[in-house]
Amino acid sequence: MRSMDEWLVSEETGEAFTHCLCCKVPLVEIDAVWLVNKEFVRGECVLEYAICQPCRDAVTDQLSEDSKESVRSFLEREIDWDGRMKEFMLSHDLRERFDACIACRTPRKSLEGFGISALFDSSGSLVTGPLPLMICRPCISRMTAGLSEQSREIWRNFLADHFTGPPNDSGFPGFL
Ligand SMILES: [Zn+2]
Ligand SMILES: [Zn+2]
Repeated sequence: MRSMDEWLVSEETGEAFTHCLCCKVPLVEIDAVWLVNKEFVRGECVLEYAICQPCRDAVTDQLSEDSKESVRSFLEREIDWDGRMKEFMLSHDLRERFDACIACRTPRKSLEGFGISALFDSSGSLVTGPLPLMICRPCISRMTAGLSEQSREIWRNFLADHFTGPPNDSGFPGFL
């Protein structure tokens, strides 16, 4: 079973993320929180990155209000935050957060694909609040279903700017 550190390292290097994907500044030098997002499909990590808050905001600021609102309303409507936060507080093992989808509660073992998100403070300590969390691919699709074509384009461009490989719509937009 993976430890929390193992879940949150870069699969590519086997080490903790060191730099922001976008501004390339070492994360420890950035006076802001940062996110680690990873997406797994059939046991393989297919996308991973760390992004600092200012860079994340620069991307989300480009999204239309309607698109942001559609994601917000999914998060509010489809996730039982009170229930989840109670469970999280009772659990002594943070890894249990990755055992089931935050929204539909499907166990990870029966998922073909899922994304995980974790937040770190500016000194590099894991922040425990609503994150870390795991969300399944079908719920990611539902979360992003209300995005406008223009907002999808912003996400596609983000992927194309920072990753090689065939351009596609997928990828876990864990920072939306
Ligand atoms: Zn950055
Ligand atoms: Zn789900």
